[in-house]
Amino acid sequence: FLKGKSAIITGSTSGIGLTYAKALAAEGANVMINGFGDAAAIEKERAALAETSGGKALYDAADMTKPEAIAAMVARAEAEFGAVDIAISNAGIQYVAPIDQFPIEKWDAILAINLSSTFHLMRAAIPGMKARKWGRIISTASAHSLVASPNKAAYVAAKHGLAGLTKTAALEVATHGITVNCISPGYVWTPLVENQIPDTMKARGLTRDQVINDVLLDAQPTKQFVLPEQVAAMALFLCRDEAAQITGANYSIDGGWTAE
Ligand code: NAD
Repeated sequence: FLKGKSAIITGSTSGIGLTYAKALAAEGANVMINGFGDAAAIEKERAALAETSGGKALYDAADMTKPEAIAAMVARAEAEFGAVDIAISNAGIQYVAPIDQFPIEKWDAILAINLSSTFHLMRAAIPGMKARKWGRIISTASAHSLVASPNKAAYVAAKHGLAGLTKTAALEVATHGITVNCISPGYVWTPLVENQIPDTMKARGLTRDQVINDVLLDAQPTKQFVLPEQVAAMALFLCRDEAAQITGANYSIDGGWTAE
């Protein structure tokens, strides 16, 4: 249902972002992926996305800490695809430390990548969406856009900010055929999470099941991880014409975490 539409997904060389790209390409959209990683691996993903989509798939290396690179990425997508109809802000990093020991450069990097990059993406993409009277802006927030955990000051501040930015943008573009929403996953089963398990087993002397249920899924009442495909399915729904009246919303996909 997205044939002829074009999307940018930031932070899409792995994890949830790459899953968004695959889901959009499977519906026929042109996709521009972005993020860091091994050049050959990224080229392989790009080629597979082009194949799936039947349209175009491009990679842009824009660093989400650089406003001018974000604007240039949007301009490039508009030039090569003819439009940016769907802008998904997904790039994100984490750092865990108490506030009085939190490195200033980590605070600045998390605010830049997890929050300000979304502002810069919106700022660059909204004029074209307004001109075409159609747009979908979706951000990956987090359960941490709604509740806090200790030692995650920058991440929680950035994700709460992202929820506020989403509401503000939704109000500004409400009469232009553009919707702005965010999705707030709990723990998602990505390589990042899976790779932490052996270290935590060793560090705390726990079994794999104990790490999963008592450490990772402690906050998640279903005791199951969210799957990246479940997050991408929500993003796809938000792109449908049936979702035209959903705007300014923050959708939790967190196994009940924020219901507690
Ligand atoms: P991931 O590490 O697999 O993916 C992050 C992506 O962002 C990668 O493509 C990486 O290259 C890219 N990236 C990092 N810094 C960048 C920069 N400066 N410029 C451009 N790209 C950059 O992580 P993920 O788990 O897929 O997370 C994706 C998003 O989902 C993040 O915003 C994260 O906060 C959010 N999220 C993740 C979970 C989870 O449990 N995995 C839960 C809630 C929210």
